[in-house]
Amino acid sequence: MTRPSQAIINLSAVNRNFDKLSALAGNSKRIAVVKADAYGNGAVAIANTIKDRVDMFAVAFLDEAIALRENALSADTSSEDALNSHASTKPILILQGAHEAADYAAGAAHNLIWVMHSEWQLAAYRAHIQQHSCQARAWFKFDTGMHRLGFSPSYLDTLLLDYPELINEHSVMMTHLACADEPNQGHAVAQIDRFLEILQQHNFPVCIANSAGNIRFQQARQDYVRLGIALYGSSPFNLADQSIQLDPVMSLNSKIIALRSIPKGDCVGYGATWRAPQDSVIATVPIGYADGYPRHAPTGTPAWCNGQLVPLVGRVSMDMLTFDVTALLKHSSAKAAGEFEPPQIGHAIQLWGDKLPINQVAEHIGTIGYELMTRISKRVPRLYIKD
Ligand SMILES: *Cc1c(COP(=O)(O)O)cnc(C)c1O
Repeated sequence: MTRPSQAIINLSAVNRNFDKLSALAGNSKRIAVVKADAYGNGAVAIANTIKDRVDMFAVAFLDEAIALRENALSADTSSEDALNSHASTKPILILQGAHEAADYAAGAAHNLIWVMHSEWQLAAYRAHIQQHSCQARAWFKFDTGMHRLGFSPSYLDTLLLDYPELINEHSVMMTHLACADEPNQGHAVAQIDRFLEILQQHNFPVCIANSAGNIRFQQARQDYVRLGIALYGSSPFNLADQSIQLDPVMSLNSKIIALRSIPKGDCVGYGATWRAPQDSVIATVPIGYADGYPRHAPTGTPAWCNGQLVPLVGRVSMDMLTFDVTALLKHSSAKAAGEFEPPQIGHAIQLWGDKLPINQVAEHIGTIGYELMTRISKRVPRLYIKD
């Protein structure tokens, strides 16, 4: 490998995070959400790591499910027994449901569960199962306040009356919380209450919680929980919230490929947006926005180097970043402690990971750990480790 930038993915950390979430989940069945290539960590590797420990997987849309089946979770549908007992055949829930009627036929061999959130899906899926004389495997999504996908709660009775062909022992009623990760819990509680109230006179299995719901709201831990971001070691809550300690999964590492001293007053990078307030030493690191490091990361966004945090300075380029490492040299000349090693070409830089929490970096950039992780591009090799 000629380029030192890589994402180290710690699969042992995924298992430890799963343990912590599981300890909270009680009797709920566990769904591992592996959409968006498992939030950038690699869906195949993540699915293979936890397939024996979860009840099912979830992805956003059909293509993601098929890719997973072809590479990790083969759907051996030769017998009902194989479906139930083999971890590799665990069902995959399609969170957005079908995008077009042809999806139902295209997914037929893959042991999928379809979310229904629109009336056209109900009609198209009914037509599909009638045509192929197969059993419906549908979850029904209700919009209890997120206002993104789902039927109005008042539609439940009509649904049951008009689509009896879709209702069977596989039916699950689901909703999604808009504010489970917000400090103010009122919105989430209102959504949960509203949903449980309309389901009161029925006996359907229920699925409400995402990671934040599973960690924080006992009432959201129903028959199933959908575990995403927390598996990957980024807390869904804001930095100050210590409700759960998770292990970082992705460490985005690189190395210093150039170092230079510049005089006070000189500028760094495209647009000359950062001017050195003193004589400075600038370290250049070969990772940039083409790798998914956000271009809008401002001066001051931290990275880790030789046991210290160093600030990004100047604009993010397509393939490179520049950091002000002057403070490291000062510390080392002051001989503060052995750990202040002067930076040299070849020294490791970590953009986020086991030495620098991803959420801390995200806060500087004005985003969340979810976006940083999912946007690391295919150009960055993933290296899988177990510790
Ligand atoms: C992505 C997603 C999840 C997982 O959410 P996390 O916050 O990552 O745990 C759960 N449910 C739905 C509907 C989703 O789209």
